[in-house]
Amino acid sequence: MRFDVLTLFPEVVENYFDASIMKRAKDAGVFVVNTVNPRDFTLDKHKKVDDTPYGGGAGMVLAPQPYVDAYDSIKKLENSVTVMLSPQGKPLDENLVCDLSKYNQIIMLCGHYEGFDERIREIINPVEISIGDFVLTGGELPALCLIDAVSRKIDGTLGKIESADNDSFSNGLLEYPQYTKPRDFRGYKVPEVLLNGNHKEIAQYRLEQQIERTKQRRPDLYERYLSKD
Ligand code: SAM
Repeated sequence: MRFDVLTLFPEVVENYFDASIMKRAKDAGVFVVNTVNPRDFTLDKHKKVDDTPYGGGAGMVLAPQPYVDAYDSIKKLENSVTVMLSPQGKPLDENLVCDLSKYNQIIMLCGHYEGFDERIREIINPVEISIGDFVLTGGELPALCLIDAVSRKIDGTLGKIESADNDSFSNGLLEYPQYTKPRDFRGYKVPEVLLNGNHKEIAQYRLEQQIERTKQRRPDLYERYLSKD
């Protein structure tokens, strides 16, 4: 899997892969992250990548030339998809993450300031993806969310110890509550059922917890879970 990220702030993206599970997976060659800076492609002698909006208004708009030329410079692999990070896009969820994990290459366009000149969308024709109904200053964090979530679906990213098998959403439900040592912390005890070694009972208890949690916290998921039966 290859992730190509078009960003004016490559260091923000690259730093994320210097720690923990993402570093280990990247170092092991499970995936490749490449950044491309549209500023390196601008034909403007002052290296400008943005300008004031036609029609007036606050802020700066990302100009088409540096972005489209930077995009054109990226070698497109077979089975590649291009994503524009945008608050106006399709919401990122587990199903979309699974779909994206089937590609060999995800090219991501990160905006900044007031966002992209509309012609960048028209020319590149990306899939627009949002990480939620709020507005961030740039597309780098959304791109990192996408890479992190997608790479967890790729063989080799998670060791057995971090397995995603029981994670929230994997079976349409939120995960059950987890406990580690000690058995008693400030009078708060680990449920007895988890200590008795009876795997059938433990599995039953965890499923009940999953269902109850999902019902309480995410009635929308709970309804969907019920309607699957
Ligand atoms: N003016 C734009 C609008 O109202 O739709 C918002 C621009 S935002 C300040 C700058 C950039 O941050 C966007 O171009 C996008 O790449 C990124 N961004 C901000 N919020 C986002 C979100 N919720 N999901 C994905 N990308 C987001």
